[in-house]
Amino acid sequence: MKRTLYLKFLIGYVAFGILGFLTIATFTSRLTLNFIERDTASSLYREANLLAANYAANYYRGNMTLEDVTSHFNAVSTYLDATIQVLSKNGQILISSGQEASTSMVENFDITAFGTSYYQTGSFFGAFEEETLSVFSPITINYKVRGYVMVHQPVTDLVALKDGFINISYMTLAIIFLCAFIVLGLFTYTVFLPIRKITRAAKDYSEGNFETQINIQTNDEIGYLAASLNYMATELSTLEEDQRKFIANVSHDFRSPLTSIKGYIEAIMDGTIPHEMQDKYLNIILFETERLNKLTQSMLELNKYGARGSMLDISSFDINNTIKLVAQSFEGICQEKKISFELILTGQTSFVSADISKIQQVLYNLIDNAIKFSHPDSTITVETTEKNEKVFISVKDTGIGIPKDCIKKIWERFYKTDLSRGKDKRGTGLGLAIVKDIISAHNENINVISTEGVGTEFIFTLPLTAEPSMS
Ligand code: ATP
Ligand code: MG
Repeated sequence: MKRTLYLKFLIGYVAFGILGFLTIATFTSRLTLNFIERDTASSLYREANLLAANYAANYYRGNMTLEDVTSHFNAVSTYLDATIQVLSKNGQILISSGQEASTSMVENFDITAFGTSYYQTGSFFGAFEEETLSVFSPITINYKVRGYVMVHQPVTDLVALKDGFINISYMTLAIIFLCAFIVLGLFTYTVFLPIRKITRAAKDYSEGNFETQINIQTNDEIGYLAASLNYMATELSTLEEDQRKFIANVSHDFRSPLTSIKGYIEAIMDGTIPHEMQDKYLNIILFETERLNKLTQSMLELNKYGARGSMLDISSFDINNTIKLVAQSFEGICQEKKISFELILTGQTSFVSADISKIQQVLYNLIDNAIKFSHPDSTITVETTEKNEKVFISVKDTGIGIPKDCIKKIWERFYKTDLSRGKDKRGTGLGLAIVKDIISAHNENINVISTEGVGTEFIFTLPLTAEPSMS
């Protein structure tokens, strides 16, 4: 593509030059010659009229001698650089400039051959060898035509004049051609070279090499295109990296429980683990199986949201009550870790319109995280606030927090911060991805505020609705 685009412009440029040259050589040349002929004929006609009305008529009337008229004609002929003649009606040459006396005839002279025009080009009935422009003016005495004043000028004179004009046209064309060359150069520099850079980079990107950066800093559409492509390449390269990480995480999360299950079963079977210890290891196997189960479950769940296939079962329910119930289900773990709940709920009830089971899952995942990443003897606060037809639900802990540069990634599948790995070995890193998908499916928002070592707060919104009437 890159070569042909430039080639097209070059061909266009050369074609423009050739066509311009041909147009001048044919069309312009012909038009110019016609114009010069007409213009010269018109001025010669004026002279012929003058000569016919003043000198020739006087000569016929006998007011001027032949010598006087001839000398006048000679003077005008030199001035016009033309041959001037006086012809009788039948073609006899009575006076001819440059000659003393003439008695010759113009054979086959017929004034009607001029038609309606006062001039013609040709050999003038064979009187001249070269092509000549001949103009006539009748000599009229007492309303009768007595003869004609003829003015002849060789066409070669006119052609020489035309050639002068055409040379100027060629020079103008050459200057235009040069200007076009400068424009072509500018085009090459401002459009073609940047596009070639972009095409090369695009080729690199298509081959999976996202390292290539397009170095174009202009403030126009091409600069904007280059910047967009650079941005796209950076995004794609991180996407590719994320995908690699995703696969690595999936494999790792499946492999480690499977390896330990296999190891313990083998040890039990070959008697490495004594009979009385088997219970302990069977419990570990159960734990790992549960983890695998949870992992598979979560992946299935995510797949469902990813495909946008899940239908929400929207109903109106009291979010305060839902929060209380979910919090209660964590009582056992909370006692174990000495963690207490503080519920700050708006009023008695707060009705929202959403899919209750999905919102329970959101709350479960958020509170589960808050407990997992909290220190013993701390408090988890769940708070609801009503504002602008929305309920803001916040789950806040004072645990390990999330490092600043990880905050954006926690919504990604399988993502776990390094901080959390030590605290929670069971986690799959899928919980928040599911939460995000559920909230998005409700067309609502979820945000996180966290400071490493201080704590974390997740806030999501749900639409408020009127309390359903009891019937
Ligand atoms: P799962 O939810 O499947 O058990 P998980 O809890 O590790 O696994 P997510 O719920 O998706 O996965 O959370 C992703 C990561 O975000 C966590 O591993 C942790 O690093 C970080 N995170 C989430 N909530 C908190 C929190 N309240 N405090 C500190 N870090 C958190
Ligand atoms: Mg979680």
